[in-house]
Amino acid sequence: MNSAARIALVIPVYNEAPVLPELLRRLDALMTSNPAESWSVVFVNDGSRDRSADLILDHASRDARYALVDLSRNFGHQAALTAGLAHAMGADAVVTMDADLQDPPEIIPELVAAWRGGAEVVLAVRRSRQERGLRRLGFDLFHRGFGRLIDFPIERNTGTFGLLSAAAVGAFNSLPEKHRFFPGLRAWIGFPHGEVSYDRKERAAGTPAVTFRRLVRYALDGLFSFSHLPLRVLTYLGLFIAGCGFAVGAFFVARRLLGVEVAFTGFTTLVTLVLFLGGVQLIGIGVLGEYLGRIYDEVKRRPHYIVRRRVGL
Ligand code: UDP
Ligand code: MG
Repeated sequence: MNSAARIALVIPVYNEAPVLPELLRRLDALMTSNPAESWSVVFVNDGSRDRSADLILDHASRDARYALVDLSRNFGHQAALTAGLAHAMGADAVVTMDADLQDPPEIIPELVAAWRGGAEVVLAVRRSRQERGLRRLGFDLFHRGFGRLIDFPIERNTGTFGLLSAAAVGAFNSLPEKHRFFPGLRAWIGFPHGEVSYDRKERAAGTPAVTFRRLVRYALDGLFSFSHLPLRVLTYLGLFIAGCGFAVGAFFVARRLLGVEVAFTGFTTLVTLVLFLGGVQLIGIGVLGEYLGRIYDEVKRRPHYIVRRRVGL
């Protein structure tokens, strides 16, 4: 492919007014220094309560390469990303990235080069990341543990940042599920993969829009939608406990039949067992509930997001 390719950038935005001017400047610079491609940018405003939408509209009114999909409220990062991908049909390749400049736009030409080299899904792999403390620990644990838990592998240290070919975007858009875990789905759709590594920056300004609680939910979404392991663990645990119960029961019946006197102590043992088994059962119900809630959300068949208006598309 040597002619100009149509490359669309999909960028979800939630209260990013402090970083937008710099982001727009760097995107302009990217397009200016790579005139060989035909660029467009689809911003998805995910119900921001600050001036984000105004800033984007202002820029879009002066530059036709920019477009805005304005959602009716905050639907979350994954829904916003889904909305952006649905509106980027028609491009030869789509780059997905965050608005906060943690994903440096300067890497995009490398993603495009890898795509031209034949990869249909190009992953930007983090060589390093800046997060510290609890958030960092969470990310590390997740990326280490996740690969082992799920039924098929997801590349470590990848996030939303990357490129999808038109065919891969079509495949992604055809997935109907509600609880979306983008890196997992991107691995699931297949296609030849390529990788480009980069240093993940600190966010340019503001605080993370995805709160720690949401990150935990996101991680659980990843686990529950890509693995039946929690259910299997319950089955095995149940078998194990039932086996122990049977052995202990047989032991006491045998003692009784052999005429060994029954002692009336054992209160501590009983209390411990009752509480332990009660706890295990509640955890079991909780795990079932996680799957059940997800099934319920799927069955309702509500759309992932509602578009309030489209500008420049
Ligand atoms: N974002 C969004 N909706 C939300 C939360 C976040 O569209 O409800 C966007 C946000 O503006 C940013 C991207 O998703 O472009 C990633 O968010 P953030 O930087 O807070 O997440 P993190 O880098 O911690 O994963
Ligand atoms: Mg971020």
